Amino acid sequence: MTKPKIATVWFEACSGCHMSFLDLDETLVDILSKVQLTVSPITDFKDYDFPEVDVGIVEGGIGNTEHKEIAEKLRKHCRILVAWGDCAVFGGINTLRNGIPKEEVLRYGFIETESTINGVMPIHKELPALLDKVLPLHEVVPVDVYLPGCPPSPEVIAYGLTEILEGRIPVLPADMIHFD
Ligand code: SF4
Repeated sequence: MTKPKIATVWFEACSGCHMSFLDLDETLVDILSKVQLTVSPITDFKDYDFPEVDVGIVEGGIGNTEHKEIAEKLRKHCRILVAWGDCAVFGGINTLRNGIPKEEVLRYGFIETESTINGVMPIHKELPALLDKVLPLHEVVPVDVYLPGCPPSPEVIAYGLTEILEGRIPVLPADMIHFD
């Protein structure tokens, strides 16, 4: 039987959501035995001309033109798109820059910090441009499943993926969307 294919990407993120996935311990072995992991930071396979996949998983907010382009490509190539973690669901901590003009953010980051000596603004045609604001995934493409948390706990990830693999759109029980 063909295994469902999964692709995962991270955008403006800290990688903590993927680390939480790895924290599934033995459940990770069980889940990975049921799926085929394609493009993912975990496989380090970076062909963003995605194969057709059953599930696309996004960690991180959409902060630049490359993130937007990859999110749109993944949406086109997946059946179910998952916003994974608060950065993908809400924009997360990255949205702290949203009240500041992006030119000012770049100038401060690359030239004006106390630790910067002879700072220069990186300008190259291959560098993606910052968007004016960091956006949650659903403001760029339609999303099917939301798994919030910073990061979502391994239990939330296991529940969400298991529900999807069994053909259901996961609805998190109340105790999984309560954060202490
Ligand atoms: S939701 Fe939290 S853990 Fe996940 S990428 Fe954002 S900051 Fe990191």
